[in-house]
Amino acid sequence: MSNPISSTYLKKLAEVAVKVGLRLEEGQDLVMTAPLEAVPLVRLITKAAYKAGAGLVTTFYGDPEATLARYKYAPDASFDRSTDWLFEGMAKAYDNNAARLAISADNPMLLANEDPEKVGRANKAMSKATAPMRKRTVEFDINWTIVSYPGADWAKQVFPDDSEEMAVQKLAEAIFAASRVDRDDPIAAWAEHNAVLASKYKWLNEQNFASLNFVGPGTDLTVGLADGHEWAGGEAPAKNGITCNPNIPTEEVFTTPHAQRVEGHVTSTKPLSYHGTLIDEIYVEFEAGRIAKAGAGKGEDVFLKMLDTDEGARHLGEVALVPHSSPISQSGILFFNTLFDENAACHIALGQCYSECFKGSKTITQEQIKKQGGNSSQIHVDWMIGSDKIDIDGITQDGVRVPVFRKGEWA
Ligand code: ZN
Ligand code: ZN
Repeated sequence: MSNPISSTYLKKLAEVAVKVGLRLEEGQDLVMTAPLEAVPLVRLITKAAYKAGAGLVTTFYGDPEATLARYKYAPDASFDRSTDWLFEGMAKAYDNNAARLAISADNPMLLANEDPEKVGRANKAMSKATAPMRKRTVEFDINWTIVSYPGADWAKQVFPDDSEEMAVQKLAEAIFAASRVDRDDPIAAWAEHNAVLASKYKWLNEQNFASLNFVGPGTDLTVGLADGHEWAGGEAPAKNGITCNPNIPTEEVFTTPHAQRVEGHVTSTKPLSYHGTLIDEIYVEFEAGRIAKAGAGKGEDVFLKMLDTDEGARHLGEVALVPHSSPISQSGILFFNTLFDENAACHIALGQCYSECFKGSKTITQEQIKKQGGNSSQIHVDWMIGSDKIDIDGITQDGVRVPVFRKGEWA
């Protein structure tokens, strides 16, 4: 069998990563993270970046086998540690205006058979160590993006009944379609898509809803929106003056909930893959914005540990709207990868909010964000609550209900 990953489309994906995702500027450095398996894409992106005038392109590789070796042989104290020095260095690079690119390709179930206690501790140490670095991207100091590569173990997870080669080919095709690189002119297709998303968030910004009410099977949730919240989606202006497309693909428009004004109960509609563990059938109840009761049909230990990361982990940091007719949803594929699955359904995120989702986001301070209801946490974990059975009403500042979604589609 020939290479299951089309080299033509992989090259186009590298171009989209540099020219749409990052919009790398001449002289700008690039810091990339990727699993070893994604070397073919890393090399194409490196070439495209230098052709676009990049100063220095530096890639840090991860290796899933090395990760598993740690769980098998490392001393217990290893699981409370992380490579702080590396993440500090990366944060320093971003302070010097380096752009950031992450390639996602890993097996989402890599850690499924490891001790959940160790997984939880390692995740916590990692979240803490990456916090300063994450701050630079979450607050859009610099242009950044994430793209995906069809790793073999990930592909086998998504298409378990196929041979490895067939599974990789199918996942590659799904990634290329969702990333719009199978179009004649992917860069023009992204410009068009960004305009559609902009029309949706502009309407929501005009409405300036006080809250959104989600109703569906197992769900009656009222999400109060932060004071002075702003909706965003698609391309986003970074503080360094470059407008980037932070996720390839992306189908969502999203904003910041009020951390103290969420009430009711909600049931997840798709499994969540969290650092190698599958969490499914999540059920939570909110009181005054805080999760008061929580459970999950699968992966409950890891889910509850995640909620204990810090106080902010029990409050919402994002609410996002995605129609059921989105191409990723219509593909019918469960990717076990938040980057894709969150773009197939409406979702909420526990933890850190995005400062771009406030009016005056370029100058707003952390104190102001907190005062207006923005949440802060070491985590930001999205999970899906949308389906073709969900209705959403917007509730205006005067208490009037406006249909926003009916049966999973824009009303
Ligand atoms: Zn989102
Ligand atoms: Zn999110």
